[in-house]
Amino acid sequence: MQTAIKHITDTDIWVALESVKDPEIPVISVVEMGIVTKVASGESQVASGQSSRYARVTMTPTFVGCPAIGVMKKDIYDAVKKLGFEEVEVTVDMDTAWSSDRMTPEAKSKLEKFGIAPPAVMDSDLTEEMLDKVRCPHCHSTDTTLRSAFGSTLCRAIRFCFSCKQGFEQFKPL
Ligand SMILES: [Zn+2]
Repeated sequence: MQTAIKHITDTDIWVALESVKDPEIPVISVVEMGIVTKVASGESQVASGQSSRYARVTMTPTFVGCPAIGVMKKDIYDAVKKLGFEEVEVTVDMDTAWSSDRMTPEAKSKLEKFGIAPPAVMDSDLTEEMLDKVRCPHCHSTDTTLRSAFGSTLCRAIRFCFSCKQGFEQFKPL
């Protein structure tokens, strides 16, 4: 049976996923967050010579304390399904840990514009002192201090800026 089916590529899936935002940070997509790790698509043969197009998306489980995974999984499914796939499978890859280092530089800059201090890059050279030098997203001063280890979600801390006297949230490096 020959029907005019638009060919959907993996690139289309990545583009669709750009429209899926992190439910807690609505300016950043799940792709920029580094949550989506793998995308695959193809056709599988079903009965009577017909084929069915499938898409598989693999995502990291994010981390404990940021419980948006169920919402993101559903949003990812819906966005990919809309492209016209008969079968969509969203898998959570428990072997790949999400870390704030997976966020793209664009995501970190959007986070700061959104009013949340982005996480510092985690590497072995990081000292306590560097971790404490968090730049205020409002005035960019580093004269800030930790007020509460937990903000509106467990992955955020609340800090106070001595320079502009405003409180702000920091996305903790994880
Ligand atoms: Zn400030």
